[in-house]
Amino acid sequence: MRDFTSNISGFYKLSLKERRDQLTKFLDLEQEEVELLQNLGYFSPTQIDTLIENVIGSYQLPLGIALNFKINGKDYFLPMVIEEPSVVAAASNAAKIARKNGGFHSEEVRSIMISQIQITQLKDTTAVKEILKRNREEILKIANEQDPLLIKLGGGALDVEIRELETNKGKMVILHLLVDVLDAMGANVVNTMAEAVSPYIEEITGGKIYLRIVSNLATHRIARCKAIFDKEMLGGEEVVEGILNAYEFALADPYRATTHNKGIMNGIIALTLATGNDTRAIEAGAHAYASLSGKYKPLTKFESDSNGNLVGEIEIPLALGIVGGMTKIHPMARLALKILGVKSAGELSQIAAALGLAQNVAALRALAAEGIQRGHMILHSRNIAKSAGVPDELVEKVAKQLVQDGKIRVDHAKKILNKLVER
Ligand code: NAD
Repeated sequence: MRDFTSNISGFYKLSLKERRDQLTKFLDLEQEEVELLQNLGYFSPTQIDTLIENVIGSYQLPLGIALNFKINGKDYFLPMVIEEPSVVAAASNAAKIARKNGGFHSEEVRSIMISQIQITQLKDTTAVKEILKRNREEILKIANEQDPLLIKLGGGALDVEIRELETNKGKMVILHLLVDVLDAMGANVVNTMAEAVSPYIEEITGGKIYLRIVSNLATHRIARCKAIFDKEMLGGEEVVEGILNAYEFALADPYRATTHNKGIMNGIIALTLATGNDTRAIEAGAHAYASLSGKYKPLTKFESDSNGNLVGEIEIPLALGIVGGMTKIHPMARLALKILGVKSAGELSQIAAALGLAQNVAALRALAAEGIQRGHMILHSRNIAKSAGVPDELVEKVAKQLVQDGKIRVDHAKKILNKLVER
């Protein structure tokens, strides 16, 4: 039994050091562990303490760069933050294959977000929908008074959508406020607008409003990207056929489609995290969009062209920003955006879509061509060696031996290490 309670009142009011000291005492942490917590990296104590609550330290992950990406005729370095080996290499590889036929072609993405206003306790929903339609201009006017800067820059609330839902609590009318959030992710922007218009909507409809909040299913912010992947560079006709079969499998089976889409998100989330964007918003939106037809489907499509090359397409909602949220506050996110050199949120979404497509092709190719586990485990062998306690200077040697023996396991790494040390 651990001798403490996690019910500590006022923990959030303590300083970073005091919180760390308390935890050290409760958990009897070693000096080395305390030092890990003390190492805040590029954050100052004040800076990190204001980002979330109950901060005790900073958590680092590798930042890698994916190469070979040509998108709409422009070359980019893609920053990716991810813990999983082989993802960055795989994306770079697929991007190299796409380059042969001109790289990726992404469509323009407008940053239109939806804010939902839930109107309940209505007697006549048909009449309410009419009232809302008639007062559309006033609703938009109130919304647009909330963010003068956004309006000045050319954004703002543009339109409304009115929907009716049958629920267990009776009929509800849901008003969608459609807002051009320009270069922001936009959640705070549209939440503020929805809150501001709600009293007026209650007044004109006589209903009661409960929720007024952004929808993460950003169906007006869809990124579409296409690329042709050279047959020979992929590994030949057989590999293309394997990829097309893998795609059909995903289209027919949600169990497979989930893993198919997970591969896409390996790339997109790594870029989302690197640029200080909201990974949960992107994940939630992507998976909801994948199931919008009532069946969970892959977010990419594949076919072969008349030369036998693989033609890949992706379609995904991407609420990514280059201002607001963490994007300008987090020092490394700021640098990641500089590395990308993007000028707008739309451009960032075009890049993310290309990365998702590349990531998917790379994974399908590995599955079709050589079995993903083998390729993955080779890269993974270094981590296995490290987990087995192999000292840094011997990691490469032990990792190679693990691969040669075809036993990429911790117990085997320990055996190899023991033999090396005995010599
Ligand atoms: P924000 O409110 O921090 O910044 C947006 C503001 O920046 C705008 O209101 C505008 O006034 C200003 N701005 C300056 N230049 C701009 C430009 N070129 N384009 C657009 N705006 C410009 O950020 P946000 O994007 O509204 O909110 C993002 C944050 O909200 C994220 O951190 C996210 O995690 C969080 N969040 C998410 C959810 C959700 O997804 N469900 C809910 C609440 C909050």
